Amino acid sequence: MSLPTFKLLRPRTVEEAVGMLHRYQDDIQICAGGTDLLPSMKQRLFTPKFLMDIRGIEGLERIRVTPGLGVELGALTTLSAVEDSGFIHRHYSVLHEAVKTVASPILRNMGTMGGNICLDTRCLWYNQSLQWRKSCGFCIKKDGDLCHVAPGGKKCWAAFSADTPAALLCLGAEVNIASPSGFRRMPIADLYTNDGVNRIKLAKNEMITSIYLPEASAGYQGAYKKLRIRGSIDYPLAGVAVALKKKGKIIEDAKVAITGVNPAPHLVPDALHALIGREVNEHAATVVGELASQVAKPLTTSLLTPEYRREMIRVYTKRAVMAAGAAAGN
Ligand SMILES: Cc1cc2nc3c(=O)[nH]c(=O)nc-3n(C[C@H](O)[C@H](O)[C@H](O)COP(=O)(O)OP(=O)(O)OC[C@H]3O[C@@H](n4cnc5c(N)ncnc54)[C@H](O)[C@@H]3O)c2cc1C
Repeated sequence: MSLPTFKLLRPRTVEEAVGMLHRYQDDIQICAGGTDLLPSMKQRLFTPKFLMDIRGIEGLERIRVTPGLGVELGALTTLSAVEDSGFIHRHYSVLHEAVKTVASPILRNMGTMGGNICLDTRCLWYNQSLQWRKSCGFCIKKDGDLCHVAPGGKKCWAAFSADTPAALLCLGAEVNIASPSGFRRMPIADLYTNDGVNRIKLAKNEMITSIYLPEASAGYQGAYKKLRIRGSIDYPLAGVAVALKKKGKIIEDAKVAITGVNPAPHLVPDALHALIGREVNEHAATVVGELASQVAKPLTTSLLTPEYRREMIRVYTKRAVMAAGAAAGN
């Protein structure tokens, strides 16, 4: 499949980039590593007049540690760079666990943190060629007005299918957003809409420039478990991240987040109450698994059934809690 015709723009600075976004807002698409966007363009899911390649912007590919504040990951930091960072491995292990499961080594060499956070939602009825989608009368997410997954509904249930945002939620990460009027910071927990079409709260003239990992989240022990069809290279059909802070054997703080099952990644709100003040054990892990499966709302957006994906959220949450507990030397 060939790419549609577009004009390539190559800004050298963030100011230039947001200026271009502002000028061409309805006809422009940001391209970072292009690992998700370019295949989607070949499927005619996106046909922008202007494609803005942001890789020429200097300074957005760095991992910068500021003692007392935490770590700033530039939006263009590749997934491989995060995977290879000994600092991230030692201090933010849940992110390290998640990033190394993304796609394949080659895709991680090209794919960026910014692109992973802003990844498009996925659905069996959407990630298909133009001819395939046309033969089904298109769908609410692209070119149509009907949802094959929840017929009669007005909402798009395409699943958010990136791995690292679940880990970033556990770490209380924030994103730095640039626009023509300056910069603003937003907790990653507020970035997603839970709507499959307009998945993130970025205005058309905004882009993410970096991700902050707070120092307060350093040292949490993490685990990430992922369900996928092809073990070596595939999007999550269910993903669970767990980060635990312990004193001795006792849990002082706990964060659990899920991805791949809803139109947004979600924290599991009551996980902390089920774990705080306790030791990690099968019972506590089972309770958290149950809580996570209640947050998961998978529909028929993938080849695996919703029932199976929801059940696997339960099972993987239990396993991830046990693994994070073991990593902390329980
Ligand atoms: C075969 C295959 C398997 C894959 N498996 C996985 C997987 O297991 N897990 C997973 O998480 N992903 C997977 N991916 C998707 C993709 O490779 C990764 O998510 C990658 O991190 C995307 O980053 P990118 O830089 O290539 O994004 P791009 O493709 O360049 O962009 C993705 C989206 O983000 C937007 N965007 C990019 N940067 C910014 C920014 N700075 N500000 C605002 N918007 C921005 C783009 O406009 C686009 O909408 C897979 C892809 C393929 C082809």
